Amino acid sequence: MLRTHTCGDLRSEHIDQKVTLCGWVQKTRDKGGLIWVDLRDRYGITQLIAEEGVTAEPIVKKVRELGREFVVKVSGTVKEREAKNDKIPTGDIELWIEEIEILNPAKLPPFLIEDETDGGDELRMKYRYLDLRRNTVREKLRLRHKVASATRNFLDTQDFIEVETPVLIKSTPEGARDFVVPSRMNPGEFYALPQSPQTFKQLLMVSGFDRYYQIVKCFRDEDLRADRQPEFTQIDCEMSFVEQEDILNTFEGLIRHLFKTVKGIDLDTVPRMSYADAMKLYGSDKPDIRFGMQFVELNELTQNKGFGIFDAAELVVGINATGCASYSRKDIDKLTDWVKRPQVGAKGMVYIKYNEDGSLKSSVDKFYSDEDKKAIAEKFDAKPGDLMLILSGDINTVRKQLNELRLEMGNRLGLRNPDDYKVLWVLDFPLLEFDEESNRWHAMHHPFTSPKPEDLDKIESAPREVRANAYDMVINGTEVGGGSVRIFEKPLQQQMFKLLGFTPEEAEAQFGFLMSAFEYGAPPHAGIAFGFDRLCSLFGGSDSIRDYIAFPKNNSGRDVMIDSPASIDDEQLKELGIDLK
Ligand code: ASP
Repeated sequence: MLRTHTCGDLRSEHIDQKVTLCGWVQKTRDKGGLIWVDLRDRYGITQLIAEEGVTAEPIVKKVRELGREFVVKVSGTVKEREAKNDKIPTGDIELWIEEIEILNPAKLPPFLIEDETDGGDELRMKYRYLDLRRNTVREKLRLRHKVASATRNFLDTQDFIEVETPVLIKSTPEGARDFVVPSRMNPGEFYALPQSPQTFKQLLMVSGFDRYYQIVKCFRDEDLRADRQPEFTQIDCEMSFVEQEDILNTFEGLIRHLFKTVKGIDLDTVPRMSYADAMKLYGSDKPDIRFGMQFVELNELTQNKGFGIFDAAELVVGINATGCASYSRKDIDKLTDWVKRPQVGAKGMVYIKYNEDGSLKSSVDKFYSDEDKKAIAEKFDAKPGDLMLILSGDINTVRKQLNELRLEMGNRLGLRNPDDYKVLWVLDFPLLEFDEESNRWHAMHHPFTSPKPEDLDKIESAPREVRANAYDMVINGTEVGGGSVRIFEKPLQQQMFKLLGFTPEEAEAQFGFLMSAFEYGAPPHAGIAFGFDRLCSLFGGSDSIRDYIAFPKNNSGRDVMIDSPASIDDEQLKELGIDLK
């Protein structure tokens, strides 16, 4: 080793010892003959010191040559510091430089490599390897490592085996767009990168692996929304001879273990909610249950009172913002403008204010008597001081809008504390959703998901009503994982493909390998996958998954550091049989 200790090691017990450190120069200060150097590595910072007249002349000269981010090796004696620094663990000591070697000088970095940096996003992405030297950034990757190793430890104790599945696979039309890779040896043909190892993990169940997992890269060529990465990581899992309940228990166990080891938090039992209830009470399949403010449906109390907008609406629904009766007219107007923004899209908002004196004031007093308003307030379980906010429209649209409003009110009222973790299972998702654009049914989870046996008879007659044995895990309003009980019999899988608009030939061409495997003794099986980057960002208390990825892509899917994607040589194109003209 070039060093005896790291820059985070030295304490008062090392005083008078001779040691050697290696690291990067964070900064130097030169004051009247005394020179201090902060030397950094990933373990911490140690203060080095040299003094004119005390330290040998050539050494002082060399110390004066040091610039930011020079890589140095220094030997010397540990001494007690005169002015101690209780902000860093090595703050009691300093190292008196006796020998110093510049291992590599450095150009002045394009931004400050300190906790508070002056570098903007793009610049830091371009020099990501320098950004990664910063404590705050490095700690995020350490957290990621911790989550990964805790995951492996837990799944190991449960007899899971990690198996790698291929990265060059075949494109299928289901789901998101695939990234494709041209095959030189098979001109005109392409591999696709996996959106998930779904079919492979199912095949592993047919092979008898019984409990599989993989911390695995997945690829989806989607239009990038704020916090999506074209390549991301999943904790992908599958089990045989299990029912939904077993999956829920096993992976609640995993999440419990992660919270305990990574955050030191003992999780409560994870509540469960049906998809139907989640939509009805929160207008979302991933409700944030850190706070209540559940939806209250008001059709019965508000219709046929002469207010045309409510009369015409499929659903009149509201939330009670506790303690918000103090909102002024102006505040409410602003909130109304907020729900009318295109991102939310409501046409308007009705409010009923429950004044402290017990009187009820609404924006539609013309149509509703005090009695009417009282009945509505009772339905909301509202108290003096509360503010009821009501939207109306088509069921799906208005639920979405009110979900936005509920989350916004949750933010305003400080009810969404990132240190408070509420985990939830959402169950019984619909098997299918109708896509107006392509005018056909799509699998809501994926085509390998099993319908609930009790709904099987509705599969042809009322596909919309068929529920799936599919589940999502939601933490603080974010979907962190999802999976399903699988179809494991060929005839049902064939029926499913038919429902999804595949001809038997198409189904055979794309998924024949899986259906044939089902004919060779496929066990009942089920599984789940967790968004690993997302879990890390949640544990880190951050909204951005990008921070938890060593070398992420930017919002346009570019790696600005290596400048990718990029064009390739004509020669390469020719070899691949690709003609760009
Ligand atoms: N493969 C699925 C996904 O990536 C998860 C699963 O069903 O296990 O969403």
